[in-house]
Amino acid sequence: MKVKVLQNILDANTQMAQKNQRLLDNHRILALNIMASPGAGKTSLILKTIARLKDKTRIAVIEGDIASTIDADRISDQGVAVVQINTGGGCHLDANMVENALNNLKLNEIDLLFIENVGNLVCPAAFRLGEHKRVVLLSVPEGDDKPIKYPMMFTESEAVVINKIDLMPLLDFDLDAFKRKVIGLNPDVEIFQLSAKTGQGLDPWLSWLEAELKSLRA
Ligand code: MG
Ligand code: ZN
Repeated sequence: MKVKVLQNILDANTQMAQKNQRLLDNHRILALNIMASPGAGKTSLILKTIARLKDKTRIAVIEGDIASTIDADRISDQGVAVVQINTGGGCHLDANMVENALNNLKLNEIDLLFIENVGNLVCPAAFRLGEHKRVVLLSVPEGDDKPIKYPMMFTESEAVVINKIDLMPLLDFDLDAFKRKVIGLNPDVEIFQLSAKTGQGLDPWLSWLEAELKSLRA
């Protein structure tokens, strides 16, 4: 009985996610679902990307957090449209929350939409939001074993960003082993290694975003 209820919830979410994606497609907006543990650098990567792209790309952000507007305030300070979703304890975003947020954005004025999920490597992977691409961020201090411990996050994503590579000399993070595990789970995944803090390695990430935008519009 419990299993049946859970399946119904997932189905309703998937339907709403498809509706969100049609709305985004109609406005030619590329939407990315950014997933990671708390502190991995989701907001920092979004801020750095805004700084580099905002002159040529119209960016908006949906911020998911259990509480507060700390991250949304940092985005808003950059002059970018942002909607904060406070889940009030919920540990992931769902498609209904994102629909509500989309209703509060001027969709005709957006090219690229970041949806920053609640910090958590587990259940965000189970809920589609209407995004075109799912990106999992993993920071070097978290360790290279995370694809083994949280495989769904890596099998369900189109891109993996290894963040805080400036800390690599200080830590025992085996980059080759990490990449092997990720590719073993998901052979087609894009892998980026960068530091959102220093800007090192940011260019391939920005080029990928621009190529995805281009192909959505083609
Ligand atoms: Mg954040
Ligand atoms: Zn959750």
